[in-house]
Amino acid sequence: MRLARHLWLVAAAALVLLSPESLTAQLAKLLPDSMRPLRVVDTAWIDKNVSACTDFFQYANGAWLARDTIPAAYASSGVARDMSDRNEVVVRSVLDAAVAHIESLPAGNATRKLGTFYASCMDSAGAERAGLDPIRPWLAGIDSVTKRSRLIPELAALQMLGVNVAFRYRPDVDAHDAAHYMVWLHQGGLGLPDRDYYMRPGAAADSIRQQYVEHLKRLFGLAGEDPADAAAHAQAVMALETALAGASLTRVEQRDPAATDHPIPLAGLDSLASSISWSSYFRSIGLDAPPQRVNVAEPTFIRRVDSLVAATPLETWRAYFRAHTLSSAAPWLSSPFVQEQFAFTSQFTGARALLPRWKRCLRETDADLGEALGQAYVAKTFPPEARARARAVIDDIRAAFGERLRHLTWMSDVTRAQALDKLAKMGEKVGYPDKWLDYSKLVVADGPFILNVGRASAFEWQRVVNRPGMPVDTTEWGITVPTVNAYYDPSKNEMVFPAGALMPQTFDPAADDGANYGSLGASWAGHELTHGFDDEGRHYDAEGNLRDWWTPADSAHFAEQAKLVVAQFTGYLQVDTLHVNGELTLGENIADYGGVLTGYDALQRALERDGRPDLIDGYTPEQRFFLGYAQSWRVHNRPERLRTRVTVDPHAPERWRVNGPLSNVPVFAKAFGCEPGDPMVRPADSVAHIW
Ligand SMILES: [Zn+2]
Repeated sequence: MRLARHLWLVAAAALVLLSPESLTAQLAKLLPDSMRPLRVVDTAWIDKNVSACTDFFQYANGAWLARDTIPAAYASSGVARDMSDRNEVVVRSVLDAAVAHIESLPAGNATRKLGTFYASCMDSAGAERAGLDPIRPWLAGIDSVTKRSRLIPELAALQMLGVNVAFRYRPDVDAHDAAHYMVWLHQGGLGLPDRDYYMRPGAAADSIRQQYVEHLKRLFGLAGEDPADAAAHAQAVMALETALAGASLTRVEQRDPAATDHPIPLAGLDSLASSISWSSYFRSIGLDAPPQRVNVAEPTFIRRVDSLVAATPLETWRAYFRAHTLSSAAPWLSSPFVQEQFAFTSQFTGARALLPRWKRCLRETDADLGEALGQAYVAKTFPPEARARARAVIDDIRAAFGERLRHLTWMSDVTRAQALDKLAKMGEKVGYPDKWLDYSKLVVADGPFILNVGRASAFEWQRVVNRPGMPVDTTEWGITVPTVNAYYDPSKNEMVFPAGALMPQTFDPAADDGANYGSLGASWAGHELTHGFDDEGRHYDAEGNLRDWWTPADSAHFAEQAKLVVAQFTGYLQVDTLHVNGELTLGENIADYGGVLTGYDALQRALERDGRPDLIDGYTPEQRFFLGYAQSWRVHNRPERLRTRVTVDPHAPERWRVNGPLSNVPVFAKAFGCEPGDPMVRPADSVAHIW
């Protein structure tokens, strides 16, 4: 739902329906008694003291919110945490079994690698004993940068270990030839969550910057620097990062695909940034041959890196490399490092305590060996029947969106034909990959876990580094199977829904259509599909190429209506006195709005096809649709998280993701008997009409 960035049409085929109890019963057997089964619509969460026409988010979730306490280790609670908690119990059982069988499995076996990886992470006593020792060779590499010619090879070596320094190299889809990869160079290299944290004036921002410098000082101190050196180095790193931040695009600027589209030949890169030896860089990162062309996503930023490479003292660069190496390794070193890193980063989330070690280790294992885990996870949780049922809902959504496209009055037939073509060619991945990643080249060893993390980074780097010029792998997944998330990728024109997200509360084969079409249909499938046609996605064509396929009049209409969505969300309060950033959240808000309209239409089609059920718990199918939608956004956030999200997150707070789109649609007012003038009924002249 949620990675903004990034179909063949199937008629409603006869489905092999699994008996409704089987998935629920199967899941229940895997979970401890303390974990209450999740329902797509749970009437126990409704607060009937609130009017549905005043604040529907509060109506649908108020009883839950009133008794929820966010656990100390979390920044929020709600659907995503509840589903992740349940998925993590299953994943943990897979990992525990892998650990138990390490000795009996042959060397090189993927399950053995999983077990060894997780066990080395769980060895907290080993991490305490080792202290900083495991990464001393990395720090020695940084110390060896005593000549400027060593700077770029060391920068490359750190990037390959997964350390975020200076800029990012990424082999990604060529925006103008979506069938092939090319080199992308992106801005990066900051220690604070966004460039705005360096640029924003005011006391609150000053305080965060000061805390960052203090944090760096303490990290350097833990790594053995004396206080005077640590203080000087921390200030120098802050100055270097501020220079990088000043040349970085804002998140709003980055949402315009044209703003990051600057393909140039290699010679052009040499003249854009002539202090950097690009041939040395590309050799150091393991490219077999220098690339012919490069997309410099942010040219101003790369020029800034170039001038810093030329002129900034090497002592500052070494301190900067150390800072980023220490902060990226800190979570897996001994307690003083872990605690220091947590104390600093938790101010952005509001978490009061670390997650239990097994959860931290499980998440890192999922990030690094996700597809080895995914196979076992699917076998335990996601039978083929569940996949077929989820696909059927998604296919109804596709059909409903097609109907809407065919009947839009504002769109010309020329643009409409291309939009329909894009919809027809939109791919969908549901549940799990058809082809699993091969981990045979990944080395995993006993001993310090941070070294296994470094090996996993190097494995992933080698796997993709030489992709530029090669055909795009259309089978690849961007997130792992147990993940509670989904995405639309405009360059591949496909939407992806992993099994981890296709569980209760998102979806339950045993639930009624109203509930499933409100949640999986609107919040997930309708939302992702609409991303292909939001203010960002609409710039890509059916094949995933960045190409303007719109008539000028249709573009103008879209832009004008999008302004109404920006104005609507800018009017909502995020936290304290901060308002939602209507421009940053525009794509997500268009996707939510389109998701609701499409999901509702799909429900009507399903009711016509399958028949209208009796009231369930006193609610009509339409009312349960809107409850399913609103409860899919059942989230309780800490204020610290909302403050960070206003800067970094393209999604508006969940309350507005519910009340925003629902107050735009007359079918919601009709379902709950709301009248003009009610807060959940916005005046017609302020309502955007897009999809
Ligand atoms: Zn989204």
